[in-house]
Amino acid sequence: MPATPGKNAIEVRGVRKVFGTGEAQVAALDTVSVSIRENEFFTLLGPSGCGKTTLLRLIAGFDFPSDGEIMLYGEDIAPLPPFKRPVNTVFQSYALFPHMTVAQNIGFGLEMLGKPRAEIDARVAEMLKLVRMEKLAKRRTSQISGGQQQRVALARALAPQPKVLLLDEPLSALDYKLRKEMQIELKRLQHETGITFIFVTHDQEEALTMSDRIAVMSSGKILQVGSPRDIYDRPAERFVADFIGETNFLDARIDSIEEGRAKVTLKSGATISATLPDGFKPDGEATVVIRPEHAKAVKDGGDISGVVENVVYFGTDTHVHIRLDDGETFTVRQQNARGAGTSFERGQRVGIVIGDDAAQILKD
Ligand code: ATP
Repeated sequence: MPATPGKNAIEVRGVRKVFGTGEAQVAALDTVSVSIRENEFFTLLGPSGCGKTTLLRLIAGFDFPSDGEIMLYGEDIAPLPPFKRPVNTVFQSYALFPHMTVAQNIGFGLEMLGKPRAEIDARVAEMLKLVRMEKLAKRRTSQISGGQQQRVALARALAPQPKVLLLDEPLSALDYKLRKEMQIELKRLQHETGITFIFVTHDQEEALTMSDRIAVMSSGKILQVGSPRDIYDRPAERFVADFIGETNFLDARIDSIEEGRAKVTLKSGATISATLPDGFKPDGEATVVIRPEHAKAVKDGGDISGVVENVVYFGTDTHVHIRLDDGETFTVRQQNARGAGTSFERGQRVGIVIGDDAAQILKD
């Protein structure tokens, strides 16, 4: 069935999850609401302990909300036990059966559902092809590599054709190169199957490169939901700006507001234009965030100025750390294309040009 664009697969409405009692009480989820669209690669991103796994477990049915409800295609799934939910989970540890072959592992869920043999065999063959493991079908899962085990775990979870696949840090046990390969593989699987993926990670780069949309979480709350570009270019809160990528924070005074943008004066006296988060109208003081690649260091002029403290070479680009005249630090990232860019030295006086549309005001 073709996916209907914009239709919600999962709606989490005002969900709270409290563990423990009295002084030991922890709100693992503190009134979380979010809608996840059909056929979407949706990522829950946040540091350890922010509540990502708890939210997945509630969707899977391994645990129950203390408050609020979770809807699947418009129906409250509270009465459904995990095995009756059209939802499957891939765990970080894969949780494969080591004494079974690859094919037996993939067919396991279908066996449990009591599907006819011929249907199981056909589906297992299809899944082996999907994850490119046809040649290893008869190997025991204890005799294959970590990356191959990951593919089997994915195939096993996809075999019963769930409507939603939950993935709890599925790539974190793999080394860097394999993780990069599996990121591409996961995107391909999601695209080819059209299944809604809810992916949990604490790795911001993984979230940015793989997701259609990201929910950034902190301390049991969802702080911002948006496309990778929205989240990176238009972080609404300090935590989001800081958690994702490198950021410069500058104090500013709001001079005027017009159509979602503000004119602000920085401490240096420079006046720049900055974007406002949706529906946010600050007055007085505010913090402005500017990504290092949205500013440029120049030998003369610029909106603000300072002295180069350090120059760090990263191959594709160079980071220039500058101590501003007001004492704050500012990083500029310049690309290292051949013949491009000016080189800077420690101790040199420089100006910083802040690009049009580079500055964003934070809510907090
Ligand atoms: P990680 O990335 O480390 O897995 P997470 O973002 O998935 O972290 P959760 O595992 O959802 O975070 O935990 C959220 C909070 O709830 C943490 O403070 C955790 O200690 C607490 N918590 C989770 N499960 C339980 C439990 N069964 N009993 C008590 N506290 C729990």
